[in-house]
Amino acid sequence: MQFTYKAYISLLDLLRKNNYHFCAYDNYPRNSRCVILRHDIDYSLEQAIKLAETESSQGISSTYFVLLTSDFYNPASSASYQALHRIIELGHNIGLHFDETAYIYDVIPLEYYIRKEARILSDLLDVNINCFSLHRPNRITLETGLRIPGLTNAYGEEFFMGFKYLSDSRRRWREPIEDIIKSNKYERLHILTHAFWYHEHEQNLHDSLNEFINTASSERLSGLRENITDLDSILND
Ligand SMILES: [Zn+2]
Repeated sequence: MQFTYKAYISLLDLLRKNNYHFCAYDNYPRNSRCVILRHDIDYSLEQAIKLAETESSQGISSTYFVLLTSDFYNPASSASYQALHRIIELGHNIGLHFDETAYIYDVIPLEYYIRKEARILSDLLDVNINCFSLHRPNRITLETGLRIPGLTNAYGEEFFMGFKYLSDSRRRWREPIEDIIKSNKYERLHILTHAFWYHEHEQNLHDSLNEFINTASSERLSGLRENITDLDSILND
């Protein structure tokens, strides 16, 4: 499968043709045959919007998990607020993407920080946050199977035991996703995609990452232009 919006639409079509109902974390038990689409936003809200628009154009909603502790975007900025509200307006759900390495949690349990971040995200966006996913969790945290009342753990046991889990982590499907969908072997699918890997045209991993690095540099320049008068003449000095 290519990492393009067109290929992603074909994937959605394939799911529909194979009678999978598109569900969220809180309503999937209504359908015996269902798929939950999960998107972890690790780096770019702009690319998340593009995937959200692609899904919405097909009448499909999913869940976008937002990092509060990212070094790549700031969910409290006005641009992020607009971006995240665009995703919400398109009909998608928002969850918390949680990075445990941001905290030292020997004494205070991880649950405390997850609840705290969920509250902050909910306050920031004025939406209810009822699910979380873990960003690159360590094995021990994963195996602990965190249960937090009121917050569904996307890495919780029910989504691994009762679902076939497929992920495009590091821009690579570890299993042939299209064959698995067509195989009729699984009633419930849990698909994690990262909007970051998808583009209008197919790019290899090297070019995709380089484009992101170069875009960040020009974004920084235009951000500085808004804050420093005569920036260009200073830089050309
Ligand atoms: Zn992540």
